[in-house]
Formats: sequence, structure tokens, C-alpha cells
Amino acid sequence: MTSTLEAQPAPASAGARDVGIAIIGSGFAGLGMAIALKRRGENDFVVLERADDVGGTWRDNTYPGAACDVQSNLYSFSFAPNPDWGRSYSEQPEIQAYLQATADRFDVRRHCVFGADVTSARWDDATRRWLVSTAAGEFRARVLVSAAGALADPTYPDLPGLDSFAGTVMHSARWDAGHDLTDERVAVIGTGASAIQVVPAIQPVVDSVAVYQRTAAWVVPRTDHPVTPLMRRLYRFVPGLQKGIRGALYLFREFLVIGLAKQRRFLTPVGRLARAHLHRQVRDPKLRAALTPDYTIGCKRILISNDYFPAVAAPNAELVTAGIAEVRPHSIVTRDGVERPTDTIVLATGFHVTDLPIAGKIRGRDGRSLADVWADGMVTNRSATVAGFPNMFLLVGPNVGVGHTSMVYMIESQVAYVDDALQTMAAEGLAVLETTPQAQEAYRRLIAQKSTGTVWVGGGCASWYLDKHGHNTTLWPDFTFRFRKLTRKLDRENYVGTPERATEVAA
Ligand SMILES: Cc1cc2nc3c(=O)[nH]c(=O)nc-3n(C[C@H](O)[C@H](O)[C@H](O)COP(=O)(O)OP(=O)(O)OC[C@H]3O[C@@H](n4cnc5c(N)ncnc54)[C@H](O)[C@@H]3O)c2cc1C
Repeated sequence: MTSTLEAQPAPASAGARDVGIAIIGSGFAGLGMAIALKRRGENDFVVLERADDVGGTWRDNTYPGAACDVQSNLYSFSFAPNPDWGRSYSEQPEIQAYLQATADRFDVRRHCVFGADVTSARWDDATRRWLVSTAAGEFRARVLVSAAGALADPTYPDLPGLDSFAGTVMHSARWDAGHDLTDERVAVIGTGASAIQVVPAIQPVVDSVAVYQRTAAWVVPRTDHPVTPLMRRLYRFVPGLQKGIRGALYLFREFLVIGLAKQRRFLTPVGRLARAHLHRQVRDPKLRAALTPDYTIGCKRILISNDYFPAVAAPNAELVTAGIAEVRPHSIVTRDGVERPTDTIVLATGFHVTDLPIAGKIRGRDGRSLADVWADGMVTNRSATVAGFPNMFLLVGPNVGVGHTSMVYMIESQVAYVDDALQTMAAEGLAVLETTPQAQEAYRRLIAQKSTGTVWVGGGCASWYLDKHGHNTTLWPDFTFRFRKLTRKLDRENYVGTPERATEVAA
């Protein structure tokens, strides 16, 4: 076993464990980073995970109907194809099993510290280490990689009276499997990607379901199908076939970027498809009108479902658009004065995305947290590094999100970038690597320029893609192969490096 980042002696702090690299999170990003290190023989790292297993999103989102919106042949690691996917778009249990199996296959688990909720990570300039406090002890790391997820911390709406509700309240991302919804009157709040999976899954068993909609979603058909045993055998024995299909899916999805980010008119056929889908599935003109979005398709995530509209149109379902005035102990009252008796409230209200909780926990050289530094908007160099936060890398941080294709592609691009940075540090004997404010500003301008004219900023919707100033700080606003090109190697000229045994700074 070789180690390109040899652990260096540092003044001991009682009980703290010294490690080369501390990775926060064991979702696709944390695992991807860990596996990249393992594959080149680097073993001096820990994966700090607050939960008790790997998986991230796919461990936490266990609501009925939870499934992927991207075909599994593309939504999986390129280096770990799975010939055994049961469906073209996998459901949550299968993706979670894939992540668990992949962690085992690459022997990542022995690096994982479960129950290690990171409560703070502070850069100590004197020792050139990150001092990381977790619920499972203290760590002192040369390098910090935050892979804490952009859709990991649920948001709870500020509804008057919600605390007084006497029934069950659960967020879609914190599903209580022990709670039986059979014959209950259920309220689902929200109509985003999770809601449109939950509603059809529970509608057949509940007494009634009221779907509280603020903004209608564009929904297109889901081309899901079981993978036949023959196909699985072919994937197993002709791996090139699965690789080819993955490539075709990638290219097909990238075409959408032309409409989303370049020429809006290329979205017209997608809009027609969505309208036809709604017309085919919903007969009632009033319901159809209420389900018709009033913004350009693509401005918010385009959803895929074959059973959401039929579920909302079912006799025991109701689409509620009046807006919630208050929650009472046994009901929800809307602004039009209607009171609906309710047993359980399902909050499908999304996640902290532009106000990432981990940002409040990571403190850089001057003691300020990432959240402080980002108070006016998230800025980075290459979506990965921040001036004033030496030896720190972000995975799935600002401007990495994509709505049209697999996040795993973006994650693998980022992992390659971070790994190149780590290898550069080792090759040059650097103790500290830090990006410059100038590089950050240049990247901010690049993102702003690429975002101009895209459907996300000009599509007439309010979405979690934009921060409070209306700036796109979450999405990568271009073809994803351009992101990969930009992050293929470390942009060394945008970093200041401090050699291991030097006090002066070398450019
Ligand atoms: C319901 C749902 C469906 C989705 N479907 C798709 C899809 O179809 N296609 C797609 O491309 N993307 C989809 N996504 C996006 C998905 O989040 C990403 O694809 C990917 O799984 C993100 O991986 P990650 O490792 O960055 O984050 P996560 O999977 O969120 O992992 C982050 C990990 O960090 C841990 N963590 C967070 N804070 C701390 C802390 N302070 N201390 C210790 N550990 C911490 C969390 O417990 C978690 O395990 C979906 C997301 C959701 C919520």
C-alpha cells in the first residue's frame, strides 16, 4: 500500500485522531471520493457519516414510490456498472443496495465512522490542519472534503399552527415506515419531484389525499420498464453494450441543454409532449387548468411520471391550490376558508440548498464560517474550493446541480478534480493549497455569463435553483461535458501553495 499524502507529525490535541483526509458524507459523492483514493492506494482517510450506513439520499429517502428520475445505466458509477438493474429507472431500495455493495466491493466501510455528525470543522493555521469535531470524536486532518449533500437536510415550512397538529407529520425524506396510512386522510404539501412519487404510491390505500399545490409542475411520461433476463445476461457478458447504452443516454439527455441554456425554442417539443401527457391523463378541464404550469418548461425541474396525474384525478384525491392559512390540531384550513380534516401531513417541501447547513459548520483561516463568507451568495473556484479555506474541497457544492441528467456524472468530474489537487500537493510537497479570490471572482463571472438567457433565470418561475438575489448559485448552466473539461485537471495557476517545510508562500 502506498500513500501519496503521508501523515505528518503535528502537535497532539488530546484524543484527536490524525488522518490525511477527512471526507464528510457517504452518499454518491463521499463514496466516489473514497473509492478514487482507494483505487490509487491511498488509505489515510476517514469518511465521517452522521447516519449508521452509507447511501446518503438513497438511504434517507425511503418514502413509498421513491425512485430515480434518470436511467440507472447512467445513474451509477462509470467504473462500477451494474448488469443486474431490475428496471430501467431503479427504485430506492435497489439504488441503496448498489451503493452498499459498491462500498463493500472497494473496501470503503473500514474507513467509515458512522454516527459521526460533524458539528464543526475549523482550520488551524499554526498546525495546518483541519480540526474536526463530530459526535463520534475529534479528528485532525490535513485535507477536508465536504460531501455533505445538497439535498440532505429537509426544509420544514413555516405554517401557522403546524406545531399544534395532533396527527403525524413527516417529511418525505424522513419517512416513518412504522406509520400505516391505510384509510387515513392525508395531506401532501408540495408538488415537486418527491411529491409526485409519493402521491400515486399512497392514493390507492388512503381514505383521501389532499395535494396542496403552490406551483404546478411540468410532467412528461416516464419510459420505465423492467430489464429482461436476456438483457441482464447481455450486460454481464458484453459489458460494452451497457457502456454504449450509457453513452447514448448521456448524449440524448445533453441535447436538452440546447433548449434549457441556449435556444429556448428547442424546448417547444418537450412542452408539447408534457401538455399532451396532461390532456391524455386528465379529462376534467378545471383540474387540467389547475395542473397546467404558467412558466416556461425547464425553469423548474421537469418531472417524469405516468401515474401522478391519474392519482390526483382519482375520486379520493383533491388538488388544493388555495394556499394554506393555518394548521389546526385535526385539520388544515386554506385561505378560501375551507377546512379539511387531516390525520397525517406529508411534507414534500424540499431541502436546504442555497443555505447548506454544513456551510455554518466549516470555519476557515480567519474564523469565519462558509455561511458567513457566502452570506451574499455562494462563491467558489470551479465549484470546489473557496479562498480563505485552505486544503478544503466541496463535492456537490455550488453550481454543480443538474436537472436534465445524472448527478453521478458531475460527481465523477469533481472527484477527478479533487484527486488531481491532492496528487499535485503530494507531487509538489505542498502542505497547504488555497485558491485565490481572483479565481473565485472569475468563476462567478463565468457562471453569471453562462446563466444569462437560460430558462432557469429567465423562465418566469421561482425555484430553489436561485438564491435570494435571483442568482444561479446551484446549477451548472451549460453542457455537462464542459464542466468535465473545466475540472479535468487542477487549474494550478489559480492556487497558492505553501511547501511542507516553508513558512513563505509559493505561487
Ligand atoms: C428523493 C431524491 C431523488 C433524487 N433523484 C435523483 C435522480 O433521479 N437523478 C439525479 O441525478 N439525482 C437525484 N437526486 C439528487 C441526489 O441527491 C444526487 O444524485 C446524489 O445522490 C447526491 O449525492 P451526495 O453524496 O452529494 O449527497 P447525499 O446523498 O445527500 O449524501 C450526503 C451525506 O452526507 C451526510 N452528512 C450531511 N451532513 C453531515 C454532517 N454534518 N456530518 C456527517 N455527515 C453528514 C448525510 O447523512 C449523507 O449521508 C435525488 C435526490 C433526492 C432527495
